Amino acid sequence: MSGFGFDFKDIIEEAGDIIVVTKAWPISSPGPEIVYVNKAFTRLTGYSYEEAVGGDPRMLQSADTDPETRDKIRNALVKQEPVRVTIKNYSKNGEGYWLDMNILPLRGTDGKVTHFVAIERDVTESKELEFKLDQLSRHDPLSGLLNRRAFDEAIELEMSRFFKTENVFTVLALDIDHFKRVNDKYGHPAGDKVIQQVAKVCQSMFGKMGHVARTGGEEFTILIPNMDAREAEPKAQALRKKIASLSVATDIGTIKFTSSIGVSEVGLHDKIASQILVRADKALYQAKEMGRNAVCLDKVVSCDFLESSN
Ligand code: GH3
Ligand code: MG
Ligand code: MG
Repeated sequence: MSGFGFDFKDIIEEAGDIIVVTKAWPISSPGPEIVYVNKAFTRLTGYSYEEAVGGDPRMLQSADTDPETRDKIRNALVKQEPVRVTIKNYSKNGEGYWLDMNILPLRGTDGKVTHFVAIERDVTESKELEFKLDQLSRHDPLSGLLNRRAFDEAIELEMSRFFKTENVFTVLALDIDHFKRVNDKYGHPAGDKVIQQVAKVCQSMFGKMGHVARTGGEEFTILIPNMDAREAEPKAQALRKKIASLSVATDIGTIKFTSSIGVSEVGLHDKIASQILVRADKALYQAKEMGRNAVCLDKVVSCDFLESSN
């Protein structure tokens, strides 16, 4: 009861936010027992009051609940400190939802923590929008491949892994040959179709083993972890051949096209990721110089030049 003549419990019961009260212990298995949930909890989770009370809040989590977030909550509970997290939970029927969760310790008259209250808001919609925006900001709309920003992140991560483990990785830099001619002769929309076809092949051949990005107009960069340039070279040749076998039909004729590929691998002397990209670009330039439709390896004098063999 409050001095206002109404019961604060009614406000809690009807609040739009979820309110869950648990005992303060045990933190470890089986976890702090739930002693109260309001109606908003029942609405979102599908668990009735009777099903929830006596259970432990971990029944709402699953294997894919972020372990860091779980640890953050656990540490705060152990220290009896407030904590605020965004966490994915699961309803009774297995549907995932995101919560902005604010946990506060509740103290008895003697000042000792006896319970915790979690005040939670469903933020699924804004979280999904955030994922969508992140997806958009990392992908190129024409090809669906990673964009340069996302590729840069991937190679930075691979670089730091290399510093720790010395696991080599290889980069392929690919550029469509004489692409200006394609645009000039068949028009920009037809050129776009060529870009999309090349993207599709790159993704189908390298998407599972690495990261495939459109890093320029008709330029693609592929990062292959755990592979050196020698091993990657035949794969680059296979890609080059596959691209040379493609065609795009238009009203004024069929477009045939080729590509040139530069291959470079990370080395112990490399300090930053851009050094590997610069070498891949140099090898690509060499492939262009050799007459195009070729694969060149960084630092390898003779390029595999197979103009007539596809
Ligand atoms: P090279 O063999 O030396 O690579 O010759 P190239 O003609 O391919 O030369 P370059 O790489 O300089 O030309 C790229 C062209 O790609 C220029 C630009 O108009 C065109 N381009 C860039 N982005 C797009 C795009 O999104 N769609 C289309 N259709 N064309 C694009
Ligand atoms: Mg180019
Ligand atoms: Mg080109």
